[in-house]
Amino acid sequence: MKMGVLALQGDFAEHVRILEKIGVSAVEVRLPQDLVDIDGLIIPGGESTTIGKLAVRFGLMEPIRRLASTKPVWGTCAGAIFLARDSRHSQPMLGLMDIGVRRNAFGRQAESFETDLEVPEIVTAENSRKVHAVFIRAPLIERVGADVKVLATLPDGRIVAARERNLLATSFHPELTGDDRFHRYFLTMGR
Ligand code: GLN
Repeated sequence: MKMGVLALQGDFAEHVRILEKIGVSAVEVRLPQDLVDIDGLIIPGGESTTIGKLAVRFGLMEPIRRLASTKPVWGTCAGAIFLARDSRHSQPMLGLMDIGVRRNAFGRQAESFETDLEVPEIVTAENSRKVHAVFIRAPLIERVGADVKVLATLPDGRIVAARERNLLATSFHPELTGDDRFHRYFLTMGR
């Protein structure tokens, strides 16, 4: 299995590291030809405006949309924004997933926070612990379409992880905690 990680900007190296740790070869995607032959794509955290502009410049928008018609795609934080249908901002977006996000919903960098989340979908027999989630200028998933399954909420009910068929969005950064369960879960989405 070969998993692509969009490597235009942001914390793609952390995703690559986790994939390699669990025995999956990771391909850094910068150009359309890097998308050939991969089994899915992870879009990292970073700055969604920058990721979007670079994706347009390198001709990646349509090739990523085509990939998503058959393969799993996961966006973490900025990646979730890029994957979404609307963000209330005018910026290049893939518009693939039927969710609406609100950027920087928790405030500025200084308001970044960490918390433990209940995520039943990714709990395994060997590891039933809560997921430690890191929120860095994170978006909130403020609208989900009819086919979208909510995977995690904050205690007050606000949505921070969701799945629509082969598409996955997390407001937080599973790539920053050393917990590989979200990555393992994503790998099962292609099957
Ligand atoms: N605030 C960033 C954005 O709006 C996302 C931050 C992140 O990916 N950690 O794109």
